[in-house]
Amino acid sequence: MITMVAEKTLEDIPGVGPAIAEKLREAGYNDLLSIAVASPGDLADKCEIGEKKAMDIIEGAKLCADIGGFETGEDIMERRKEIVKLTTGSKAFDELLAGGLESQSIVELFGEFGSSKTQLCFQLAVNATLPEDRGGLDSDVIIIDSENTFRPERICQMAEYLGVDPTETLKRIHVARAFNSQHQILLVDKAMELAQQYKVKLMIVDSLTSHFRAEYVGRGTLAERQQVLNRHMHDLLNFATLNNAVIVVTNQVAAKPDAFFGDPTRPIGGHIVGHTATFRIYLRKGKAGKRVARLIDSPNLPEGEAVFMVTEDGIKD
Ligand code: ADP
Ligand code: MG
Repeated sequence: MITMVAEKTLEDIPGVGPAIAEKLREAGYNDLLSIAVASPGDLADKCEIGEKKAMDIIEGAKLCADIGGFETGEDIMERRKEIVKLTTGSKAFDELLAGGLESQSIVELFGEFGSSKTQLCFQLAVNATLPEDRGGLDSDVIIIDSENTFRPERICQMAEYLGVDPTETLKRIHVARAFNSQHQILLVDKAMELAQQYKVKLMIVDSLTSHFRAEYVGRGTLAERQQVLNRHMHDLLNFATLNNAVIVVTNQVAAKPDAFFGDPTRPIGGHIVGHTATFRIYLRKGKAGKRVARLIDSPNLPEGEAVFMVTEDGIKD
């Protein structure tokens, strides 16, 4: 199982030794995929090598990364039969998602500060420990917490409301703080190890983008940030596929226009995060303590909205 994850490195490409590998990495080509899909001209310019050499490297990367493999629709259908769904705790929200959050996918929750992204993560963590006949996944949960907002007290409140033992619930939730973006990426590898020991069908990254946003400042760093974020998203998708798990990531959008990132309603990570995420949900505050979830860009569901509440007991209609 784990072989899919033990990735080849740049040095595995024929004709790429340590010196060229270093040039590639300096230019932001951190993995085989980013090289396989690069244009020869770009790669040649950025690494100061000839275009012929660049073409050879790209071809080599395609072979190493096994790009272009096909599988039949039947194989994909078989895999999709394994998909399980996780309840949000709100009927309207579940209906918006045709029954809940799907495994083998990445769900992106984006919205302003205070739009309840973290509260929803807590609720999903508690729900995932529930048995399947209650909308749960009967599984342990991994939370990568990059903003230090995990609150066990909230987990206890939500568990109590659902009539499950708070301590038992906390025992099944494995939390790691990510101290910077590189650490956050490494924690996905750790999570993969943990998933061999426990049944983990929900992994949460709250927030996916805050470290990236803080560390890669200014326009000149945008391309590199997107490359690293892209690789991180693919690691997460890999986890989702291998473990038949739901991945939830959060992404904060600024309330006010931002000099660096432009349009405030556009989540950071832009199209990289958006295209890898299978479901994107925009959260905003409504009137009288209500919250509104809007489904955006789903491959098989119509766009729509659901209204829910954040209460002491958790997420409700
Ligand atoms: P985000 O992660 O999107 O920045 P949060 O998920 O932290 O936002 O949402 C914070 C909001 O959740 C608070 O503004 C508050 O309205 C609500 N909230 C937090 N704790 C409770 C609670 N115990 N009871 C009711 N509402 C709560
Ligand atoms: Mg939060």
